[in-house]
Amino acid sequence: MISRILHQAAMHCRRQQGRLNMHLSVSRTVRKNKKLIICLSVVIIVVNAVFLSVNFITLRETLSASLLQKAKRHEEEFKLNLKMVYSSMLQMSTLISSNSELGQAFLLKDSAISDNGKNDTSQDSLRRKTYQFGSVESKPHLLSDTMQSYTWLRGISPLWAVDPATKERVYVGSMDISTSFKEIVPLYAKLFQVEAAVLLNKEYVRNRMWNKQTKEYFEQHADANHYVEAASSWNDLMKILPIIFVRSDYKSDGTKIIYENSKYYSVYYFPLPDSQDSESDEITASPAGFMLIWEDVSDQFANSAKNFFVNLILAGLGFILIEIGLIWMLNRENRLSVAEQCAAIDELTGLYNRRYFDELLENELRRAEQSQEAPLSLIICDVDYFKRFNDTYGHKAGDECLKKIADTLKLQARRSSDCVARYGGEEFVIILPRTDIYSAADIAEGTRRAIINLAIPHVSSDIVPVVTITLGVACTSSLAEYDSLFEAADRNLYIAKNNGRNKVEPAKVSIPPRKAI
Ligand code: GH3
Ligand code: MG
Ligand code: MG
Repeated sequence: MISRILHQAAMHCRRQQGRLNMHLSVSRTVRKNKKLIICLSVVIIVVNAVFLSVNFITLRETLSASLLQKAKRHEEEFKLNLKMVYSSMLQMSTLISSNSELGQAFLLKDSAISDNGKNDTSQDSLRRKTYQFGSVESKPHLLSDTMQSYTWLRGISPLWAVDPATKERVYVGSMDISTSFKEIVPLYAKLFQVEAAVLLNKEYVRNRMWNKQTKEYFEQHADANHYVEAASSWNDLMKILPIIFVRSDYKSDGTKIIYENSKYYSVYYFPLPDSQDSESDEITASPAGFMLIWEDVSDQFANSAKNFFVNLILAGLGFILIEIGLIWMLNRENRLSVAEQCAAIDELTGLYNRRYFDELLENELRRAEQSQEAPLSLIICDVDYFKRFNDTYGHKAGDECLKKIADTLKLQARRSSDCVARYGGEEFVIILPRTDIYSAADIAEGTRRAIINLAIPHVSSDIVPVVTITLGVACTSSLAEYDSLFEAADRNLYIAKNNGRNKVEPAKVSIPPRKAI
């Protein structure tokens, strides 16, 4: 593709060269090709940059999408776990509360033992009684609130007993079986190979927590808003907490990637539903706090970075290869262009040579044919008695003479579209596009005089003792049908030679006047 563009550009340059002949120099072609290379390079750089940006964005988005998907799955799994825990707690409390002896024991308040093992008959203590059953060795042996119990972690069933006095079944209290996040979080983290933590908010801790130490936490830490109830890795959590921003409604807007201690962590959080407010899955207006899940994603990051760098290197290599190719082609084109220019120039006089002339004349004839209004003229010049000149002054002097004649001819062809060429030996041609026979004869006459004015001595000439030329002129507008421009000019040259040399044929005066339009 690029090669075709270059080739077309070069062809275009060459065509231009053909038309404008002398003026399109080699350096100009080289400059044009250089500009083309620079433009193509800029385009390739832009395309590369766009490709790499798209690649970078795609890789990043794919990674964050997969991390978010994973985090959401963990959230679902955790919530499902909470439901299972709740169901277990409820079953256990129902089972235990169905024990009639337990109800009787609660009814007989005197036999109750408080948290600290002493009899405590205060109303509050009775309501929240710790009752020991079974042997101390067989676990679980405590049914109490000494275990910390929160959202979704408690199963509560009513406790009934038969009042011996009235023989009626009376409600004596509730059986509350609960577990703790401290138990669940490490297990959960291990099971799903993530790190996790539960943070409870101030309001929840104040209203729902029974543990004295926890309740007092906020009195000692006035600035704190959350209490870390459980964490699978305290070390990581302490690094993450100062960096991560958690929204007040705990609704995460995606995973956050944080970089800490040369590691990348994907962090996600979600609100913890408070089942005591509602038994549905829905998160209530004031969740208990939030669950934080994080995992080390350094490997995934390294993979993405590796993919990106591979693409970066490929894009770089591709660019370098294309550049090498372009520069190689540029040099080749330039060499061709130089060779072409050289092949078109006559070494001795610096004029265009016959090969170039033939090509150009063909082009100009075609153009003149297409635009009938623009006649094309041709002058053929031949140095008179040049053989004798060589014989008299030597071949070297002959060469010098030809050079001087060439320089003079160049000055006669004034328009940029005019072209002077050395046809061969001591013969020269002048192509004059958009020139009629009158103007061409005029130019021919001027050229003849200019050569005489050079006053190059030529003692062996039969005409005058200076170098002279004879010129044959022809124009497409005055050509007979089927006649060729070159042959007509050559024929006129022959006539002029026969008429005594140092002449122009047709002489301007002999040409019939222009027809009035
Ligand atoms: P006419 O007036 O009829 O044209 O006679 P002429 O001698 O000019 O023509 P002719 O064709 O007999 O001779 C042309 C001469 O031009 C022959 C050759 O020695 C000379 N010539 C051709 N090319 C060169 C050249 O490159 N250098 C030199 N010094 N002479 C050349
Ligand atoms: Mg000749
Ligand atoms: Mg001659």
